[in-house]
Amino acid sequence: DGVVRFENVRFAYDPARPILRGVSFDVPAGRTVAIVGPSGAGKSTLSRLLFRFYEPQAGRILVDGQDIAGVRQASLRAAIGMVPQDTVLFNDTIGYNIRYGRWDATPAEVRAAASLAQIDRFISALPEGYDTPVGERGLKLSGGEKQRVAIARTILKGPPILVLDEATSALDSFTEREIQDALDTVSQGRTTLVIAHRLSTVVNADEIIVLDKGVIVERGDHATLLEQD
Ligand code: ADP
Ligand code: ADP
Repeated sequence: DGVVRFENVRFAYDPARPILRGVSFDVPAGRTVAIVGPSGAGKSTLSRLLFRFYEPQAGRILVDGQDIAGVRQASLRAAIGMVPQDTVLFNDTIGYNIRYGRWDATPAEVRAAASLAQIDRFISALPEGYDTPVGERGLKLSGGEKQRVAIARTILKGPPILVLDEATSALDSFTEREIQDALDTVSQGRTTLVIAHRLSTVVNADEIIVLDKGVIVERGDHATLLEQD
């Protein structure tokens, strides 16, 4: 059913420099929890631990009640869809890029995923810089549009849990809002952990956790956190 739980997680890349100093939170089934905080706070490290790229030095991480220390990375990747900050596209159409890893998907399924992620108008286009037919130019996709391709790919795979690393740092506010709309749509009814750079992009999260220097310094919904500012 997709429940994620961090229990007093401690982690350091370098033992002399703790990055996470006892972080605990839950993402209940079907809910959206956002982690916000300044660059270097440890947000991306949380998602790397969730996929077992690294192991916590203390505490534990549970998915559906099971300590992930005993779960293979391949199983975690099947259960948890990751939308990264930077999406590298394959040398083929946007539609192919969305179908990647779900070769059994029907064209209607691919279109539905593309439409949810609001990238359907580009489905048969080739990204710029690839083998476009002579006389044609490839499509120049913005960072936000590339991220929407990744969102559509994740929707099509349909994992019960989503991790979204927001690519908002390089986006203008119009694109940021569009991405936010797409994220709101795909996180409906899914267990979603959003790594966000700004409070303004996670208005609809059920809970917002503010992380600073590896410690949770505030938590609440958007309105509550704004009152405290
Ligand atoms: P963001 O803008 O998302 O907060 P950062 O600028 O902090 O990202 O880091 C970008 C990426 O560089 C991180 O995802 C991390 O993998 C990598 N990184 C950051 N600091 C280090 C480091 N000291 N050693 C190795 N990799 C690092
Ligand atoms: P955030 O996502 O909040 O920007 P990160 O989790 O990427 O923060 O990084 C937290 C801290 O860990 C930063 O000080 C960063 O420089 C450091 N860091 C990140 N990745 C590595 C790494 N692979 N090796 C060493 N230090 C790292």
